Formats: sequence, C-alpha cells, structure tokens
Amino acid sequence: MPSWIDSHSHFYLTPLNVIESLKAQGLVGVVEASWIPVRPSAPETLRDLFRWVVQAEQERLSKIGVLHIPAAGIHPRCIPEDLDGALSILEDFLGQAKALGEVGLETASEDERRAFTLQLRLAKKYDLPAIVHTPRLNKALVASKEIEVVDEVGFPRELTVIDHMVPQAFSSLKERLGEFNVGISLQPGKASVDEAIQMLSYLSPERVLVNSDTSTEPSEPERVRTFLERLESASMKEVSRMIAIDNPRRLFKV
Ligand SMILES: [Zn+2]
Repeated sequence: MPSWIDSHSHFYLTPLNVIESLKAQGLVGVVEASWIPVRPSAPETLRDLFRWVVQAEQERLSKIGVLHIPAAGIHPRCIPEDLDGALSILEDFLGQAKALGEVGLETASEDERRAFTLQLRLAKKYDLPAIVHTPRLNKALVASKEIEVVDEVGFPRELTVIDHMVPQAFSSLKERLGEFNVGISLQPGKASVDEAIQMLSYLSPERVLVNSDTSTEPSEPERVRTFLERLESASMKEVSRMIAIDNPRRLFKV
C-alpha cells in the first residue's frame, strides 16, 4: 500500500474523521496552504486564518498522528485592500510556517503582481519554499507571468512549486519549467489520474509533487492513492515513493 504526503490541501476545512480514514489508506502528512473562499475585508482576517492553519491545525492533526506541514500566504483571490498591513501580519507567521503558500497570480493584475513579488521576497528572507497557484482560466499564460516574477525576484526555482498543472497548459509550458518543481492536483476540474501519468512521462520524478487541493470545492483526496497505486502496479514503486514522500520531505524540510 502506498503512503503519501498530500503536498497542497485545505484540510482545515475537512472533518477530522475524514482525514483519519485517509490515514488508514496511507496518508501520513498534509501541507495545508492558507486560503478562504471570500476576499478578506480587512487584513486582520488573515491573522485569524494563519492562527488557524499554522497553529490550531497542528494540535488537531496531532490527535490522529498526521504530520502537519503549514503554509502561510496571501492567495491572489484573498488580497485585502491594505496589502502592507496583510504582509506585516504574514511575516508574524512565516517563522512558524514550512512554506509560503498559496501565492501567485489569478488574473495577473498589477495588484496581484505586487502582492506576489513582495511575498516572494519574504519567503527568500525566511528561506522558505513557495507554493505557487495557477488559475483555471488562462493557465499557461498566467503561469508564464508567474515564472517571470519568480525570476525577476531572483527567487530560487528549485524552491518553487508551480502547482495545479494540467496537460494542456503543460504542453505549452514544459520548455520553461526547467529547475521548477511541478505540482499536480488530482482534483475534479484539475488533473485526472491518466493526465497525471501522462505529464509524469515528460518530467524528472524528483521535481514532481502530487496533491488533492482538497477545499470546499468538489475534492477527491483518495485520487492521490489511486495514482500512486497505478505507479506501483507499473513497477514504479521507487518513483511513487519519491513523488509522494521524499520530494515533499526534502522541499518542506520535514
Ligand atoms: Zn489550494
């Protein structure tokens, strides 16, 4: 039976018994990235979100023995009007987080670019990896702008996860993804198991991460297990282990 770390999720919105049943299927740890489904009306909303994701979840998940890997960041759809206030709150939590995330661009507006740039500078200061969201709409175009920002900031590509990759965007981006980590989100509306296998054949496995992006949207966290089982049954047990355990352990230093 494969075991895995879910490299990008919002399991803080999921009942504990559901996570416990995933643990019985092989889930050993979860990266929880900060996001809420409404734009915060004030930066203080983010302080409570980070207290929840970074601190309270540590205690809740320890009750069932699941490794908690918290990421704090201002999602591009969660940028409050007072960005400077939000950044100073974020900085209060980065010392306790294992990653910056999720961050990135949604429409690639000037405001989003500024928020993304300033957050990458903070991640650099705290020596944290960055989990970079890519949007459903115009994924390849927006992701290429994100790559530009990462390089402009001089943020290390090997500490960056370009997440939620799907085959269509991947085929136009793959030349530009050198040195980056690529995240595959096995979620309805994102990647299927077949699509993940297809993309994997073009990538070196030490740069691949898989996740469920479990949130309030339709989510199937057990799809990660199905994907790993497919690899194992194709005699790719080492690749499965690398993607599901070794890569997140190395990147998030856990
Ligand atoms: Zn997410």
